[in-house]
Amino acid sequence: MKLSHQFARNAFMRTSRVQCTESLYSPLWKRSYSIKPISKTAELPGVDPSKLEITKTSTPKELTPNDQLIFGKTFTDHMLSIEWTASDGWLTPRIIPYQNLSLDPATCVFHYAFECFEGMKAYKDKDGKIRLFRPDKNMERLNKSSSRIALPTIDGEGLTKLIAEFTKLESRFIPKEKGYSLYLRPTMIGTQRTIGVGPPGSALLFVIASPVGPYYPTGFKAVSLEATDYAVRAWPGGVGDKKLGANYAPCIVPQQEAASRGFQQNLWLFGEEEYVTEVGTMNLFMAIKNKETGQKELLTAPLDGTILEGVTRDSVLSLARERLIPEGWAVSERKVRMSELAEASAEGRLLEVFGSGTAAIVSPVRKISYKGQLVDCGLKEHEEAGDVALRMKNWIEGIQYGEEQHEWSYLV
Ligand SMILES: *Cc1c(COP(=O)(O)O)cnc(C)c1O
Repeated sequence: MKLSHQFARNAFMRTSRVQCTESLYSPLWKRSYSIKPISKTAELPGVDPSKLEITKTSTPKELTPNDQLIFGKTFTDHMLSIEWTASDGWLTPRIIPYQNLSLDPATCVFHYAFECFEGMKAYKDKDGKIRLFRPDKNMERLNKSSSRIALPTIDGEGLTKLIAEFTKLESRFIPKEKGYSLYLRPTMIGTQRTIGVGPPGSALLFVIASPVGPYYPTGFKAVSLEATDYAVRAWPGGVGDKKLGANYAPCIVPQQEAASRGFQQNLWLFGEEEYVTEVGTMNLFMAIKNKETGQKELLTAPLDGTILEGVTRDSVLSLARERLIPEGWAVSERKVRMSELAEASAEGRLLEVFGSGTAAIVSPVRKISYKGQLVDCGLKEHEEAGDVALRMKNWIEGIQYGEEQHEWSYLV
């Protein structure tokens, strides 16, 4: 066995003894092939927010004027950084000046894509207090992603506290106006120096932050989509339902293809049935009038492995169940064929379609190009957003900016 393999195997044995013994020594027919997260934090030191060390920058950046903020282009003064090793668990959390990483070219992240990430935001309310939105959901998802690629899990509450401290330190970068926020990008990478394929014996979790303006600075602008039937983003049993970096690079070419024909985004279809799954990197909602009963239905694809478990998706569903069902709506997570959507549109029953995600909250859709025809998504010519999308945006924003008291808002 090559040294690197030996090292990786030893690291693996140290961190996941139970699972290893099981798979190495139990007879084949007894082995379980289901993927269970290997809890590496159970035996090793977890992250300890009380140990946070802060090194402030000596060269604070100039703030970018609000009207010049571009998503993901400018970053704050500092970054949160926590290292992990298979032998010592999570090490001292640090906030340090924003800086380059220095990694050996053999580091496993560069070769086998040991990388996962999260996307969340910090908001400033009218009293100047900083708020996070459902950070527990992001932490839960981060752990699902990391454990699927043999990276460690982390205590979500501990990491949320550290992120909260980080946002406090970067407070001056968060504009107070509604619609503005600080986009947070927690990222975890495998840092073991080896090109042997195996579980990383070390990892780095870092969080960087980028101030962002409203997604639609001049009000909603409905987008047009191209249904992609020649490429697949995710499939049952795959990893498209995890926020792994490896899932995103392959999506750019289909998006460029759509753009070359004048469509802002592509709509991912799945399988021979052409189920509607997601739009670009957003979940998709459809409001349809039932053919038989005439009841209005808000629909979205179920969590069957072909879509990402969006926090916004979950929030929209929850609010719809609480606030739209009493108005007579039905709300369902079910598979919808592209042909069903086209039929509803042709019969005038397609009320509206919108994407959902942290960046925009909701993103209304005007039309979808499908098999050479244009499926009209129910917006009137002068409209840029449907009624449900508008109300969802207002409800969710109200909670994010603390205008509505809600358990989803985490006061820093
Ligand atoms: C992040 C992401 C979403 C949206 O998730 P939110 O938690 O709502 O921001 C949807 N689809 C994909 C593919 C994503 O990566």
